[in-house]
Amino acid sequence: MTKTLIQAIEESGKIGITGHIRPDGDCVGSTVALYNYIRKNYPDKSVSFFLEKVPDEMAKVLNAPIPLNGDECDETFDLFVSLDSSSLDRLGPNVHLFEKAGIKYVVDHHKTNTCFGDYNHVVEDASSCCEVLFDLLEYEKMDLSIAVPLYLGIVHDTGVFKYSSTGRHTMEIAGMLLDLGVDSARIIDGTFYEKSWAQNKLLAIALNKAMLYDEGYVAATLITRQDLKSVGLSMNDTDGIVEQLRLTRGVEIAIFVREDGDNYYKFSLRSKNGEVDVSKIAVYYEGGGHSRAAGFNVSGNIDEIIENVLRLIKEYKNKA
Ligand code: 5GP
Ligand code: MN
Repeated sequence: MTKTLIQAIEESGKIGITGHIRPDGDCVGSTVALYNYIRKNYPDKSVSFFLEKVPDEMAKVLNAPIPLNGDECDETFDLFVSLDSSSLDRLGPNVHLFEKAGIKYVVDHHKTNTCFGDYNHVVEDASSCCEVLFDLLEYEKMDLSIAVPLYLGIVHDTGVFKYSSTGRHTMEIAGMLLDLGVDSARIIDGTFYEKSWAQNKLLAIALNKAMLYDEGYVAATLITRQDLKSVGLSMNDTDGIVEQLRLTRGVEIAIFVREDGDNYYKFSLRSKNGEVDVSKIAVYYEGGGHSRAAGFNVSGNIDEIIENVLRLIKEYKNKA
């Protein structure tokens, strides 16, 4: 028997909410929206919010709770909800809280989702986890504290309403959220497009180092820890670089590599027109994502890994 998210909430007293490590806009938006929804509509329930730090530019526009760290918590929850996370390991320090909860509930939109909950509400063709969550909640019970994070998540995961996953339903939801008073320009400019001066400098470094492969079909770049240090930034400040490569005329596949440790790298892959299902390459390296946007972490010799990724691109080309 399946159970709706609302049913699960109604029969639980103590609820935990989490998303994936290094949370992006959709992850922050969906977790904050659900937290605020429960606080508003079920004030008698206890609800705890477990996530890494909410990025400053998002915290500025959201009514977000201070996140807790699962490493410092040993409680047992009646219900634990995982949002925007495709596998258990992506919950980082909060895995153990999810595992021992009475009801483990997964809400997501990744095609690589491993369905690691007791209940798994995964809508693959939804633009964002926020879109999936919107459909699980009651519109009449939403206010601005719920509409803003939902709108923010949709904006981020659709690249501001442009990726192919953006459908009529996405736009209708966005319209309904605007009706609740969302300030669209503030969210789009303030949390998506606006970058710090140092981030612009990092983008310049990344573009300067970028290389074309396969006669311009693939564009790739690598940012080292030294590059980050040179502009005073951290690993969390690299959003938007892969998008700039993706936007290069003629380029189908964009690859952004970030050195996260000694011979340890984070890959972000994009396929502009969906000619290569990049989630397959991510899964090959035990990562995940969507057919046009996916990622993974990997250890090893970077030249050999890039060579292998280029080989996989050729192998999967036009088999999406
Ligand atoms: P990004 O390249 O922006 O980090 O991520 C693109 C998409 O791939 C997102 O939907 C993200 O959740 C997913 N993704 C990125 N890295 C990983 C990873 O290491 N594991 C999994 N399962 N998914 C990832
Ligand atoms: Mn998402």
